[in-house]
Amino acid sequence: MTRKIDIFDTTLRDGEQSPGCSMNTQEKVIVARELVRMGVDVIEAGFPVSSPGDFRSVSEIGTVVGDAAIVCAFSRALERDIESAAEALKTASRPRILTGIGVSPMHMRDKLRLSEDEVIERAAAAVAHARRLVDDVEFYAEDAGRSDPQFLLRVVQAAVDAGATVVDIPDTTGFCLPDEYGALVRLVADNVRGIEGVTISVHAHNDLGLATALALAGVRNGATQVECTINGLGERAGNTALEEIVMAIRLHGEELDAHTDIVTPELTRASRLVSRITGMDVQANKAIVGANAFAHSSGIHQDGVLKARSTYEIIEPAEVGASGPDIILSARSGHAALRHRLQELGYSFDDASFEEVYERFLEIADQKREVYDEDLESIVQERQRDITAIYTLNALQIQCGDPLVPTAVATITSESGERSVVSAIGTGPVDAAYKAINKVVGIESDLQEFAVKAITRGIDAIGEVTVRIAAQDGRIYNGRGADNDIVVSSAKAYVNAINRMIQATRSRA
Ligand code: MN
Repeated sequence: MTRKIDIFDTTLRDGEQSPGCSMNTQEKVIVARELVRMGVDVIEAGFPVSSPGDFRSVSEIGTVVGDAAIVCAFSRALERDIESAAEALKTASRPRILTGIGVSPMHMRDKLRLSEDEVIERAAAAVAHARRLVDDVEFYAEDAGRSDPQFLLRVVQAAVDAGATVVDIPDTTGFCLPDEYGALVRLVADNVRGIEGVTISVHAHNDLGLATALALAGVRNGATQVECTINGLGERAGNTALEEIVMAIRLHGEELDAHTDIVTPELTRASRLVSRITGMDVQANKAIVGANAFAHSSGIHQDGVLKARSTYEIIEPAEVGASGPDIILSARSGHAALRHRLQELGYSFDDASFEEVYERFLEIADQKREVYDEDLESIVQERQRDITAIYTLNALQIQCGDPLVPTAVATITSESGERSVVSAIGTGPVDAAYKAINKVVGIESDLQEFAVKAITRGIDAIGEVTVRIAAQDGRIYNGRGADNDIVVSSAKAYVNAINRMIQATRSRA
């Protein structure tokens, strides 16, 4: 049997640090459930001391996950951070505290202003303190990729001596070349006393497009845990993509002496879910989960694939859930057929919510005859997005054309139940709709990006709009909306972004 590699997902912590990708507690719980379905070993759920919202999310996820995975909370090497992490993890059956400190010259000198000895002392104290609160403590040596290897060994030794159960050797800035990084991991594996009983973890960033290669180099050199995110979300250029590392290990398990327990047919759904929830699109040519990952367009390639898929395809689409059976539902499909298909897609509802989903399904089926899986996912995820809505768009009426003045009449309900009907004129239908919405919410924001795309097939497809708005403090929020009418999608997306902005402001308070 090959070595089991633990998949440590940090979509909810490092991933959430991508600009515009903040998620509220409910959204994080939805992602956590999908991570459990996928068989992830460790879920890093957040940074409890950073905000009340993050604290709540960690605690809620602890409850939801049960013993299906380890739930991990981030902290700096500070007592109050560690105590807050332990407190938030009280609900978890298998809690882990992640704590650590910068170990590169840049971090120690410019950020921490501490000497090498002081850093070692702080690292050991943090691990020992965390170990008094939970049994499972992971130590991260921040920016290990740019550290002096001999010093790194001293810090890791101190962490292991203080009781760390996992040590993470991150390339925080994505600076290393894969073989250099592998050598660093090997150095730790070969030279730290007592490392046999400790898991070595890798955490890499994609600043040079090498995040997956770095993680693989770590696995080759003794790491048995990989930290990664769905779609490679994360600070700056992102982290190692979960789907990439999992499939690379799956295809090269023998050479790497490695396997994971990930249920790979969940990969595509997880990718779409995270993309919709965060409002962060996946590039079409993204490995494994991009829209074009299994598309062949040149004649030579198509000819080959028709003769034998293996000529140009190293992964079968079904292996990553990219090509489920194309069951098409219509307005004639009854409750049972819809419920069955939704279950196959991984969604279940109580009777009352199912009835609402069914109503929306009928509306769509009436408008476009054939209802695909993408339509169903868009219905479900639209609901999930709206659960915590602060403002809800109930109706939108637009008048436009040549020579009309574009005019929008919007009906919006606020969370207190107050219903407003407002109208505005604009330079176009979307502008008019946004001006009407602004009259109700009364918050200034700056629209930075606006994109429309068809998420289902055909001329009657559901159009999805993604917007990015900047709040007055410069923070970015994404919003998404889907409807057959793209002006309605645009308005829904805008309301969604505003809801996120207000939620984020509240959870920081
Ligand atoms: Mn990171």
